[in-house]
Amino acid sequence: MFRIVGRKVNIKDYLRTIVDMKWNPQFITLHNTAAPSLAQRPNGFTEQHMRNLQGYYSGKGWPGGPHFFVDQNGIWAFNPIELPGVHSPSWNKKAIGVEMLGDYSYESFNSGDGAKVRDNTVLLIAELSKHFSFDPKTMKLHKEDKKTTHDCPGKNVSKDEFIKLVEKELNQETKIVIYRKGEGHDPAGITSGLYKDGVNYGMVKNVEAITGTSCGKTGLQPIRVILGNKYTYSWDAPNMKLYCVEK
Ligand SMILES: [Zn+2]
Repeated sequence: MFRIVGRKVNIKDYLRTIVDMKWNPQFITLHNTAAPSLAQRPNGFTEQHMRNLQGYYSGKGWPGGPHFFVDQNGIWAFNPIELPGVHSPSWNKKAIGVEMLGDYSYESFNSGDGAKVRDNTVLLIAELSKHFSFDPKTMKLHKEDKKTTHDCPGKNVSKDEFIKLVEKELNQETKIVIYRKGEGHDPAGITSGLYKDGVNYGMVKNVEAITGTSCGKTGLQPIRVILGNKYTYSWDAPNMKLYCVEK
């Protein structure tokens, strides 16, 4: 039998445990389990369910499975993320496989447990996108694989709406931590910012109140526009903190 992780994870913590990636994932493929449906797992998955799935896939002679299962209560790590999985014929060597509990050909993806599965999956895909530098728009549905005949996930999952939710999750509030020259290791100030499409933004007024600089612009601007090359920048993505140090 192939090895599984087989437990519910805090996704940020799980991604921090990666030490040795044996492959180079390029995007995410989204699935739904169909069977079991949400109705068949009213309390979500258990560790026993993970072992049952391991036995089922191994019995088919597969060397792996999807990387994650998502239920109404959280995220389960299955195929180790360090290794390619088995979930979509064309993309096993390229894509991280995410299975959502439910049959969204008829179960709701916008209410009840279906909406909880959706929100947990949005969080998972946002974290994977940050960690592996994926653009959420590159995500694929299993049914887009020409080598598959499954209608997976079901029609209630709208790819466009799903990607919008992931993008919204990624446009998160950040902390901008500013250090002034000669003031040692205590920050001169901390203000809120926004991270969007790989760029850190801050409010000009708030940043300049800490740095004493003036960029001649107002409102929300990229930090590099506000502070230019007088500062060095270091982005702590897992903690959404941008450190700006005066040269
Ligand atoms: Zn599928």
